[in-house]
Amino acid sequence: MKPGSQKNEKAGTKAAKSLEYYKTKCEMYESWLRAIDEHARFDVWFKDADSRYQFVNKFFERSIGRDRKDLINKSPKEVFGGDRAGRIIAMDNKVKSEGRLERCVPCDDAGFLEMHEEVRFAVNDPRGSPVGLGCFAFETTEKSMTEEALSQAQKMAELGNWRWSVRDNCLISCSEQFATLLGVNLTEAFSLMQDRLKRLIHPDDVKKVEQLQSRLTDPDFGSYELEYRIVLNNGQERFVREIAEPMLGNSGQPVEYAGTLQDITRQKRIELELLQSREELECRIEQRTADLAHLANTDALTGLPNRRFFGEEISRRFAENSGTGLAVVLIDLDGFKYVNDNYGHSVGDVLLQTVAQRLSDNSGEDVLVARLGGDEFGLAFQTSANEGSQTAIDLCEFLHHALKAPIDIGALALHIDCSFGISILEGEDNRLEEGLKYADIALYRAKDSPNSIVVFEARMAEELAFNKQLEADLHKALDAGELRVAYQPQYSTDGQNLIGVEALTRWIHPQYGHISPVVFIKIAEDCGMIDQLGAFVLDQACQDIGALMDDLDRNIRLSVNISTRQFHDGKLAEKISAVLERRNFDPRLLELEITETVFAKNMKELGEQLKAIRFLGVCIALDDFGTGYSSLSYLRQFEVDRIKLDREFIMDIAWCVYDQRILHGIIRLAQSLQITTIAEGVEDAQQRDILMEYGCDEIQGFFYSRPLFIEQLREQFQEQGLKKTA
Ligand code: C2E
Ligand code: MG
Ligand code: MG
Repeated sequence: MKPGSQKNEKAGTKAAKSLEYYKTKCEMYESWLRAIDEHARFDVWFKDADSRYQFVNKFFERSIGRDRKDLINKSPKEVFGGDRAGRIIAMDNKVKSEGRLERCVPCDDAGFLEMHEEVRFAVNDPRGSPVGLGCFAFETTEKSMTEEALSQAQKMAELGNWRWSVRDNCLISCSEQFATLLGVNLTEAFSLMQDRLKRLIHPDDVKKVEQLQSRLTDPDFGSYELEYRIVLNNGQERFVREIAEPMLGNSGQPVEYAGTLQDITRQKRIELELLQSREELECRIEQRTADLAHLANTDALTGLPNRRFFGEEISRRFAENSGTGLAVVLIDLDGFKYVNDNYGHSVGDVLLQTVAQRLSDNSGEDVLVARLGGDEFGLAFQTSANEGSQTAIDLCEFLHHALKAPIDIGALALHIDCSFGISILEGEDNRLEEGLKYADIALYRAKDSPNSIVVFEARMAEELAFNKQLEADLHKALDAGELRVAYQPQYSTDGQNLIGVEALTRWIHPQYGHISPVVFIKIAEDCGMIDQLGAFVLDQACQDIGALMDDLDRNIRLSVNISTRQFHDGKLAEKISAVLERRNFDPRLLELEITETVFAKNMKELGEQLKAIRFLGVCIALDDFGTGYSSLSYLRQFEVDRIKLDREFIMDIAWCVYDQRILHGIIRLAQSLQITTIAEGVEDAQQRDILMEYGCDEIQGFFYSRPLFIEQLREQFQEQGLKKTA
């Protein structure tokens, strides 16, 4: 073998070996490439120096939705065309010149947000000369979307997450939102958390966070939830809620805590506002309840305690001071209704307010003053058993005086009178109900008596009970025929002429016998029976006297007593007219006896009513003249035909010069007014003679005749005639 050929042979063998080596290598690289083609879950491509695709893996095929035969040896222009191809070529050139390019690529060609992380790199031959470029691209859309969504959710919930190492006592990791919540960036969050007790936690909450931290190593501590405040660098305060769970190591010790931190400032503010509004509401309710309690106990018009409070307060004072006395005073205004009816309710209201003020101003501090309703007021005060009634009387007199002073309301100067009923409750048997009842009985008395201050006495209760019994019986008496009419004749003073008779009602009670009309007329007035009773008397008297006149064939004047209450409904004239018509009784022979209380009551339209009665032809006599106010102005104002001089004057006329003078004066005055006079209760000739001397026109009294029932009267007239001789 020639050395040359040997050398050649050697070279050939070497070349063959080298070829074999490269072939093997190539096959291996090809296998790797195939594996990349087959298994890589990311895009792989290589391009030549002209940016034509030379290799694309299957994943890339799928990624861009093209077959590799449409890609290999194709330029970007051929694959993508237009602007995109231009951008790709520019980028490829950049890679070639810079060697490598890493980037995140959002691709929105399909209208979806997609993300790639790409590495583009220049590919050189073994000598370092550029031969093309390649690319590995990972689709990160899913991951980034999850992270994005989580971060978005955390942002919305104002919630950040974190992990804390128990062993190293430091923050291991945290989300961006966690840092934002602390008002710092991610890097600062770690150092801030390291020193959080000093730099982050609100001073007032440090203790509770510290306590929590000290328990984190406790294996039994478990998961926790804690709310506290943090103070940001800018001074802003935030409420946060920390929720965490331990991650246990092999030994069961907590090694880490993973949890969340949520900004609950807004929620806390709302809670705080709610709490404040609740507190405010509670406060308002409390205030309102107090107002209502005050209203429930106070009289709105006068501002005085009301009846309810008065009762409760008296009971309370009893309970506190059992054994001592308590004075209860009831006060009632006279004529208040008149003020209300004539001047209107606004004037009435001012009047009540003034009275309330005067009562308060003139009673001592320890006296409870209340308005009990309408025109009724009440007083209550502690008193000693012995001096109780005198102290109460003194106070009432003082108040009476104070209330009597004129009350100026606009141009009006009102004079008001009032009555006082006092009851003194002593010792153990103090009972509120009784106290009020007794004071009421005394008040009732006071209103009827000239004395406007009356202290309750036991007999008053008995009388009241008796009157109640009579009241019940009176209702039945009328139907049972127990009520009858008696007639007392009235003569000319010299007794020579029978002029008339006065009808006087009699009640013979089956159990109690004769009951005075003074008693039962009052009961009838109080219980509302007086109209019925008055109608019965008028009707019966017209019938009786009408028949008597027919028998005697002469006129007899019939006087009938009319109670002031009978004027109240304003229909008295009509009722009288109806009776006169029914009994065919001459109106000119009827005389109504009214008392001065009619005027004192200031009855509305009284003048019109009297006028209407007089218009019928009926006369008016003023009964019991001289006992009441006896204002002579009434005589002119209301055109009275006759005055009846009360028995009180006549009784002592024989010896009492004072009475004589008054009587003489009244008769002369009446004569000057052309009003006739009749003296009541004349019992003897001496009285008759004086009256005759003074020029009194007529006489009615036992001296000439007692009241008689109609049959007795007829008998008397028949036996004795119609004259009386001294
Ligand atoms: P009055 O209208 O002033 O009647 C006169 C009273 O004096 C009568 O009393 C009569 O019996 C009494 N009387 C007459 N003469 C004498 C006398 O010489 N001496 C004494 N001691 N008394 C004499 P009576 O009948 O008890 O009536 C009392 C009052 O009752 C009457 O006073 C009158 O206001 C009232 N009254 C009687 N009947 C009626 C009635 O039908 N209707 C009304 N509204 N009141 C009546
Ligand atoms: Mg009379
Ligand atoms: Mg009289």
